[in-house]
Amino acid sequence: MPDHHDHDSNSTHTTRRGFLGLTSRALAVATGAAALPTVCFSPAYAADPDELPTVPLAERGSLVMPRFISRPQWRARSPKRRSTRIYPARGGVAVHHLGPKRFAASKHSFCPAQVRGIQNTHMDDRGWDDIAYTYLVCVHGYVFEGRGVGIRTAANGTNDGNDRYYAVCGLVGGGSAYDPITDQLIQGFRNAIAHLRSVGNAGTSITGHKTFMATECPGKLSAYLSAMRPG
Ligand SMILES: [Zn+2]
Ligand SMILES: [Zn+2]
Repeated sequence: MPDHHDHDSNSTHTTRRGFLGLTSRALAVATGAAALPTVCFSPAYAADPDELPTVPLAERGSLVMPRFISRPQWRARSPKRRSTRIYPARGGVAVHHLGPKRFAASKHSFCPAQVRGIQNTHMDDRGWDDIAYTYLVCVHGYVFEGRGVGIRTAANGTNDGNDRYYAVCGLVGGGSAYDPITDQLIQGFRNAIAHLRSVGNAGTSITGHKTFMATECPGKLSAYLSAMRPG
């Protein structure tokens, strides 16, 4: 059974009153205020000035995240569309894994290609706008930028889940034989969640994908949700 049923049907309903309820005028003022930090928001990714809900947020907290791999760094494709219809202050972060097969790469040098493969599958086979997740974390402790801060995901299985929760996916999976859950993986989740709270307006809830629908996801990560809570 596939982990992810939802698609990007709401992405076409782009609104001028999106994240944080900002009006387009407020966004315009904000976008004129300062140069964008490059660590999270690449110019290619943020092409449309009306689609920059992240700008005011960037001023809210630190953008620095250890072992962060931005979209240009993993050579992400540009999204087909982006929706800012996400209200994560009412929820928080949903945790995912990759499914019933083992996935973790033995060497970190393999991880960026794995993330590109996931993006290709989501965009080409499933027809989604972009890679489904907000962030992806590997067993080596690196956090890959998926859709990023302030962007609605397609990963959480229901409109309610996608309305209120970011989606962070561990690059692990398995059944009775499961990828090792490394300390670095859990620390990567902690870093990603702290970051989403700091600059992404995420609420304090951390839950598994299966909260929203019938799925095994996030597999063995279900036992680590409290360990992922930032200090
Ligand atoms: Zn999932
Ligand atoms: Zn890695």
